[in-house]
Amino acid sequence: MPETNLVESVQKEIKLACDKLGLDKSYYELLKEPEKVLVVHIPVKMDDGSVKTFTGYRSQYCSFMGPTKGGFRYHPDVCLDEVKSLSMWMAFKCAVVGIPYGGGKGGVCCNPSELSKGELERLTRGYVRAISSIIGPEKDIPAPDVNTNPQIMAWFMDEFSKLKGYTVPGVVTGKPVPLGGSLGRTQATGYGVTVVIKKACEKLNLDMSKIKIALQGFGNVGGYTALFCKELGAKIVAVAGKDYVLYDENGLDVEKLFDYKAKYGSVKNYPEVKRISLDEFWALDVDVLVPSALENAIDKDVAPKIKAKVIVEGANGPTTPEADKILEEKGILVFPDILSNAGGVTVSYFEWVQNLMNFYWTEEEVIQRLDSLMVKAFDNVYDMHCSLNVTLRQAAYLAAINRISETIRLRGLI
Ligand code: GLU
Repeated sequence: MPETNLVESVQKEIKLACDKLGLDKSYYELLKEPEKVLVVHIPVKMDDGSVKTFTGYRSQYCSFMGPTKGGFRYHPDVCLDEVKSLSMWMAFKCAVVGIPYGGGKGGVCCNPSELSKGELERLTRGYVRAISSIIGPEKDIPAPDVNTNPQIMAWFMDEFSKLKGYTVPGVVTGKPVPLGGSLGRTQATGYGVTVVIKKACEKLNLDMSKIKIALQGFGNVGGYTALFCKELGAKIVAVAGKDYVLYDENGLDVEKLFDYKAKYGSVKNYPEVKRISLDEFWALDVDVLVPSALENAIDKDVAPKIKAKVIVEGANGPTTPEADKILEEKGILVFPDILSNAGGVTVSYFEWVQNLMNFYWTEEEVIQRLDSLMVKAFDNVYDMHCSLNVTLRQAAYLAAINRISETIRLRGLI
């Protein structure tokens, strides 16, 4: 069981930011819960001929900011509390980088490693049919998240298009490029995390080409973060999974890890490197620690062990509020999820824009625009952190809620 109910911890951050901004109580009332949450039950024909029903969710937080936007995940821990809180974080993330979306998130409670390709496709198509009335390019635009990938987005787009009777590329982002996906989308979150690490190094007078990084998680976010950071000269000394840690004090060979993962699906059994325990992993004397797996990875037991100078959150919600306090007392800077991992949704926004225009950009154009939005968001949050003397997380919430409250006021919602 997590230390804190996830929605409650987001609500606390919202309340704190609303109070600090001097907003009337009605703003918190409006922002404390998602606007709409749909729970669906999806019957799926399994390969053995039996039928199994899966529970799925879609949460839409604040449509007054624009269409709601955010990924959907396939994981055994998916539940209402998780999906709701993730949809709220998505809205703040979009506001931090200044893209015109309210937050959304979805998921299906399942173990995708136990499903065949056919079962995964039928589950995805069933999920689309179940939530089809509340999604669409102008309403709510899903995307990849934990255990969901471009192939799943392709099935998603195809099923929705069949329901409509015409091709609707803008209903989902993170599609394969031939179906209207954007160049640069796959690497985007890792690229954005790298921008944050690079900028953090500048602020702390660390030489990016000399730093040591430890990564928890080697999925899409962790993998590309490792690749881009290594390109800038940093050493990736450790990669941790749920029950293993790969360690090399001279830096792991990230390209080889990528190849191994492509072949075997996981880097767990990657040969020829030292193994250390998870306890040793958290206590590594590194410059930057990047949690890029799931929520609540750094809790009140893990936080006291951490020796890194900086934490950059690649995952959504990896640090519990209790752990946050401990890290603050220890003087460890935490660059929050709603800033650090915003690169993914930023390029999703570019993908959606390209779909609506039916006109496609080069990879260079995409990366250049991503870079400038990430740098701008970083500078804004970092300046607020310094000038208001608040944590980086509080600064990011202040930036986000400031933008959202302005919309509420101008639209006359309360
Ligand atoms: N799942 C990603 C996130 O949590 C991306 C969402 C999107 O591209 O809409 O930010």
